[in-house]
Amino acid sequence: MADTVMWFRRDLRLADHPALLAAASQADGGRVAPLFVVDPALWGPAGPSRRAWLVRSLAALRAATGGALVVREGDPVDVVPAVTVQLGAAGVHVTADTGPYGRRRDDAVADALAATGDGVPLTRTGTPYAVGPGSVTKADGTPYAVFTPFSRAWAARGWPAPAAAPPSGLRWARTLAAGDLPDEPDLGGVTLPPVGEDAAHERWQAFLDDGLQDYASDRDRPDRAGTSALSAHLKYGEIHPRTLLADLAGRRGTGAESYRSELAWREFYADVLWHQPRTAREYLKPQMAEMRYAAPGEGFEAWCEGRTGFPFVDAGMRQLLSEGWMHNRVRMVTASFLVKDLHVEWQHGARYFLRWLRDGDLASNNHGWQWVAGAGTDAAPYFRVFNPVTQGEKFDPDGAYVRRYVPELAHLEGRTAHQPWAHPEGYAHGYPERVVDHKVEREEALARYGEVTRR
Ligand code: FAD
Repeated sequence: MADTVMWFRRDLRLADHPALLAAASQADGGRVAPLFVVDPALWGPAGPSRRAWLVRSLAALRAATGGALVVREGDPVDVVPAVTVQLGAAGVHVTADTGPYGRRRDDAVADALAATGDGVPLTRTGTPYAVGPGSVTKADGTPYAVFTPFSRAWAARGWPAPAAAPPSGLRWARTLAAGDLPDEPDLGGVTLPPVGEDAAHERWQAFLDDGLQDYASDRDRPDRAGTSALSAHLKYGEIHPRTLLADLAGRRGTGAESYRSELAWREFYADVLWHQPRTAREYLKPQMAEMRYAAPGEGFEAWCEGRTGFPFVDAGMRQLLSEGWMHNRVRMVTASFLVKDLHVEWQHGARYFLRWLRDGDLASNNHGWQWVAGAGTDAAPYFRVFNPVTQGEKFDPDGAYVRRYVPELAHLEGRTAHQPWAHPEGYAHGYPERVVDHKVEREEALARYGEVTRR
């Protein structure tokens, strides 16, 4: 009988957890020591919403383990071997991290564990995805570069059923002091929904009951609560996509199909990042790095603060600041505005999003940005310059979304909220004038694109 360590990272749950089962199996009647390491390299760049989410999720996991979760702060390369040696544990178990930093860190931790007196192994079981990044390839073994064929091959490959519940005999080790959770940051008025594994399941159940049926049509409407709001739960692994896919399997209709496809986007971007880790920061299409861009100046600041004078864009940026979340349609429109109307490189916007989003995820965020910027996985992308006014009128037809987040426009009725310049009282409550002329900047963006594609 030997104790083992279950080192939790982006898998803050007990259900459908293959790595936890592996830890319990190796312990074989012994105990499992649940561990979380607050890594300054990840905690540092995270904004208040993500930090608060993590602290609450750890509190939920601690409660679920009967108070046994050990929390330490420091570089995992030092902390994990130190805890393992203190416990005399026979093995350390993790869910594989497939991002660039996590892969490097885990290799370094595995080396450090191997160098301890007893040469303890680091065992990686499963990933945060239904299909492990790198597993879906074309017949010749090369990765997919375009979403649709990837998603077909991904669905055809399939995924395992959810893992069994933890064994009833599982005992948590309580040898070490549990340690304090990090202090919650000042959320500055941001309100988070309930956090943790139970909350994730409740949200999912509520969505299955009330949202899935109309998801295919409502998912593009930021004025409605038409999406699942599961992204932060998925980011922290409070629920696994395999669990969601298993529940969807028994349901027919466009809602289930459409939801599966959105999960496939998450898997696709993780796959692209797995094959090309450099694309976390660099252009997937290198020629796009040659385009003329503007340094982030006053326009960028106005964008960050939701003061561009374009109501749909400003509503989105203010939703981000007030909720730590933004609707997907509006993420696309605000991102397009920064890159194509203000000509600022996507990395500046991606960094800002990652700071403020509670679901901030390197693969989905940075490849979502590259896609919008025409620098990523889309086939004929750059000509798609979103019109920030017509997008608003189409997807927020009554202006309700704009009025909810932009109080200076709350007096404008219906879709007038999207065009304050067309109303005599449009600027009566201090709403700013437009920082650019969209028509002019659209032409400018296309001209700049022409310069790099003609070379
Ligand atoms: P739902 O519509 O309910 O979708 C269900 C799940 O599918 C989501 O929770 C998410 O895991 C996945 N998903 C849906 N759309 C996408 C997509 N386009 N790409 C990848 N996965 C998707 N998503 C993040 O999780 N983290 C990010 O940091 C992030 N940054 C983004 C940045 C930009 C510029 C863009 C255009 C998109 C970004 N997305 C990101 C994708 C998407 O906007 C969010 O996943 C979605 O808005 C989350 O809300 P939801 O859970 O209600 O989504």
